[in-house]
Amino acid sequence: MRLKGVSNKMTLSFGMPDGKILCMTEVAATKPKKINLRRPDVMKEVQAEVVTHYRSTLVEYIREHDNRVVVPGRMTIRLAKQFGFCYGVERAIDLAYAARKVFPEPKRIFLLGEIIHNPEVNEQIEQMGIRAIASRPSQEELDDLTADDVVIIPAFGTEVSTRQAIQQKGCLMVDTTCGDVMSVWKRVKQYSKDQVTSIIHGKAWHEETKATSSQATAANGHYLVVFTLEETERICDYILNGGDKEAFLESFKGAYSDGFDPDVHLNAVGVANQTTMLRGETEEVQRRLKDALEKKYGTKDLDQHFRYFDTICSATQDRQDALGKLLKEPMDLLIVVGGYNSSNTSHLAEMGEAKLPTYFIKNAAKMESAEVISHFNQHKQEELRTRNWLPEGDIVIGITAGASCPNNLIEDAIRRLFELKSVPLAMAFPEEVISISKP
Ligand code: SF4
Repeated sequence: MRLKGVSNKMTLSFGMPDGKILCMTEVAATKPKKINLRRPDVMKEVQAEVVTHYRSTLVEYIREHDNRVVVPGRMTIRLAKQFGFCYGVERAIDLAYAARKVFPEPKRIFLLGEIIHNPEVNEQIEQMGIRAIASRPSQEELDDLTADDVVIIPAFGTEVSTRQAIQQKGCLMVDTTCGDVMSVWKRVKQYSKDQVTSIIHGKAWHEETKATSSQATAANGHYLVVFTLEETERICDYILNGGDKEAFLESFKGAYSDGFDPDVHLNAVGVANQTTMLRGETEEVQRRLKDALEKKYGTKDLDQHFRYFDTICSATQDRQDALGKLLKEPMDLLIVVGGYNSSNTSHLAEMGEAKLPTYFIKNAAKMESAEVISHFNQHKQEELRTRNWLPEGDIVIGITAGASCPNNLIEDAIRRLFELKSVPLAMAFPEEVISISKP
């Protein structure tokens, strides 16, 4: 790529390996540079590579056979009807792969944090020479960036200040932010414009919620992030009865905007949520806040004090609904496959835990033996080792996976279960499926 600086403008021309010029445009130095990576020739190569890395013929075979594998007298595996990669994740991965194709090494490509919350996928991206920097880059990392670099924004987006800093450096940004995340931003920005405080149901430490919160403040508004129903209750109590302001703020440390004053900014609130929350919980948060504001201001004026917009994405919803249905069937245990920092996956595990023994694992290797499994306990935020997890005899095992988990990892888990139960794969799958899929 060549850059010719003219005052605060620059001319960009993207040279392709075959010597052709891809596009040429003149932009202000602080305006984002744009490039179309989704060209048919690039996407054809990307698709071929993505399929090789993440596809599973074995999982596809199970999907085509009513999402279940039955080996009479030995074991049954049941997959949820919806699981694994969502459209937002697929798009983000495609764009990261396309960026590497359009900008081969030695061109520097950086990624803000993780492309998605799955360690195996991030490792694959790293192997392509895409370097991860902090999701909120340090000054040192920003100083190292030049206008010749490419920076990938992950599927859950980035904070407004980070985007601006990268833009100032003149880097080419490959923005993979999911459209569903941007819908939440739109909602929150509108709340701010209307001087309504955003109550964001989400995890204050999660990249998506940080990005969403930053949209509220960028539009000169305020926000407060609420995670649990206990926290929601605290807010409701303050709305109705007031209280010790300092203690209230201390209990929400790190989860509200600068200058947030509960005596002023809880008078008109709008609820939005991180796209991957548990629907039932989000509905309860909004119901309790609505009740509190209705009690305080009356039904007639409620719309001046309370707004709500459901921003759970359809992919999260579909996976929760599918698991809900699966959990109605008799099963001995549930395996949930996915990254431990994946929000939507942790909610699937939470749904399972409420019904039956559930093991949240990031890959098949965590099923160490038929006696021991290492699995993530999200309440303790640590991996635990549990003994005697796999019952003997004919059992039914449910499997699901979060939106950031590729099918090849689900296949690994299924193969491992067959191995641990000493059931030959040939008892359940045709030879061609077993051999094509062999990891
Ligand atoms: S989980 Fe939802 S919001 Fe996140 S990337 Fe997938 S579709 Fe988009």
